[in-house]
Amino acid sequence: MPLSTQVVVIGAGPGGYAAAFYAADRGLKVALVDPEANPGGVCLYRGCIPSKALLHVADVITESQHAKDFGVTFQPPKVDLDKLRSFKNSVVSQLTGGTGQIAKLRKIDYIQGRAGFRDARTLDIEREGGGKDTLSFQHAIIATGSRPSTIPGLSIDSPRVMDSTGALDLPDVPKSLLVVGGGYIGLELGSVYAALGSRVTVVEMTGGLLPGADRDLVNILAKRIEKICEAVLLNTKVVGMKAAKDAVTVTFEGDVPEKEKTFDRVLISIGRRPNSQVPGLDRTNVEVDKRGFIVVDASRRTAEPTIYAIGDVVGEPMLAHKASHEGRTAVDAIAGDRNVAFEPAAIPAVVFTDPEIAWCGLTETEAEKQGRKVSVARFPWAASGRAITIGRTDGVTKLVLHPESGRVLGVGICGAGAGELISEGVLAIEMGANAQDMAMTIHPHPTLSETVMESAEVFFGHATHVYRPKRA
Ligand SMILES: Cc1cc2nc3c(=O)[nH]c(=O)nc-3n(C[C@H](O)[C@H](O)[C@H](O)COP(=O)(O)OP(=O)(O)OC[C@H]3O[C@@H](n4cnc5c(N)ncnc54)[C@H](O)[C@@H]3O)c2cc1C
Repeated sequence: MPLSTQVVVIGAGPGGYAAAFYAADRGLKVALVDPEANPGGVCLYRGCIPSKALLHVADVITESQHAKDFGVTFQPPKVDLDKLRSFKNSVVSQLTGGTGQIAKLRKIDYIQGRAGFRDARTLDIEREGGGKDTLSFQHAIIATGSRPSTIPGLSIDSPRVMDSTGALDLPDVPKSLLVVGGGYIGLELGSVYAALGSRVTVVEMTGGLLPGADRDLVNILAKRIEKICEAVLLNTKVVGMKAAKDAVTVTFEGDVPEKEKTFDRVLISIGRRPNSQVPGLDRTNVEVDKRGFIVVDASRRTAEPTIYAIGDVVGEPMLAHKASHEGRTAVDAIAGDRNVAFEPAAIPAVVFTDPEIAWCGLTETEAEKQGRKVSVARFPWAASGRAITIGRTDGVTKLVLHPESGRVLGVGICGAGAGELISEGVLAIEMGANAQDMAMTIHPHPTLSETVMESAEVFFGHATHVYRPKRA
C-alpha cells in the first residue's frame, strides 16, 4: 500500500483506467482504486462488452434465419445457456485480465477496495476482503460512474425483476419478458432475449423508441423491433408491479388494450444515475448539481482544485468513449499542460441493435430545436450495391450540412454495421470537412462506406446511384 501518490483515480471503468494508464505513461506515480479484481468498471464487467458479446450471438441466430432468403436453410438453433453464459464470461475475463496485466506493466498501484474522502488531499480506503488504509494524494480523479435507475415507488423485491446487470447474467430464457424503457439498453437486451426465444414486450412512456434520436433513423429500426417483439407499447407507463407465483403482474397506464398483464420476467432499463455519493465528498469543496452530476470545468476540474471528475458521474452522454477521453483531458491538466479543455466537436453514439443506429455531431432533431437551418443529404441503402449483396437494404445514411458552405455538422446512419461506419463522420466533423471533401474522397467499392460519399454527392444533386437533381 503506498502511503502517498501523485494521482489517485477512484473507479476503474473506461474513464478511470484510461486516465490511470495515461497518467502513468506521462511519468506520474499513480494509484487506481476499484472494488473489482481488475480494471474494467461497468463497461467491461456489466455493460458494453458483455452486452455486445450476447448481441453477436443474437446476430448469428438472426443471420441464420435470414439465410433462407438466399436459399440456405439451417435447423432452428438449440441454445446451451450454460455455454453461452461461459462464452460471455470468458470475453469479460479475457479483457479484464488484460487491463489488470497492463496496469501492472505500467507499475500502477491497483487497490481493490472502495475509497472515500477524509479531506481534499487524503482518501480512506476500505479494502475488499477487509482492512482499511489511508492514502494521501496530490490530485484525485473521481471516475465512479453510474448505476441503473429504478422506478420511484415501484421497486418490488422479486428476482424476476431485473436491471441490466441481472439481464446480462442470463438467469434463463423467460417465455415472456417485459422491457420497461425503449432506450438503447432496453432495445439491445430485448433483442438478445427475443433472438434466444423470449416473447418480448417493450413499454415506453414517450411516443417513440430511442427518445432524442432522429425519427428517420429510428423508424427503420422500429419496424424491425415490432417484428421481433410481441408488442411495443408507446405512450404507456408502468404504474404497478406485483410479484405473482413464478411471474410478475404489471399494471399499465396509457394507450394499451390490456391494463394488466403477467410476464415471466421484467427488465427495468429506464436510464442510469450518477454515482456521486462518494463517502466524505462533503468534506471537500466538490459540487454536485440537482441531477446528481459532479460539476466540472472544461479541464474536468471540480470546485476543489486538487480533485477532478470524469465519465458518467459528470454528465451526459453516459458513454465509455466519452469517459476515456475526459480521463485523458484531466490527466493533461494535472500534468501541467496549458489551456486544456474537453471540447469535442462530435461524440458518436451507437445503438447496437439490428439494424444498428449511429450518429454524431448535430442531429436534425437538435437543429430543429435550435431553429437552425441545415441541409440534409440522404442516401437510401436500397441504392447501395453492397447493401443489396448482403440483403440489408434496410438502411439510410445522411449528412446534416451547413446549407451554404456544405460543412459537415452531423452524420446519422441506420443500417447493418452503422456503428463501424460512424467514425468517418466523427473524423469529418473534427477535421472541419465539407460535403465536397466527403464526395471527393475515393471510397472502396463495393462497401457500405460508399453511402457516406454518395450522401455527400446527393447534396450536390449528382449522386451516381440515385437520381436526385438539385433543386434550384
Ligand atoms: C448494459 C449496458 C450496455 C452499455 N453499452 C455501451 C456501449 O455499447 N457503448 C458505450 O459507450 N457505453 C455503453 N454503456 C455505458 C458505459 O458502460 C458507461 O458509459 C461507462 O462504463 C462509464 O464509464 P465510467 O468510467 O464513467 O464508469 P463505470 O464504468 O461506471 O465505472 C465506475 C467504477 O467505479 C467504481 N466505484 C464506484 N464508487 C467507488 C468508490 N467509492 N471507490 C472505488 N470505486 C468505486 C464502480 O464499482 C465501477 O467499477 C453501457 C452500459 C450498460 C449498463
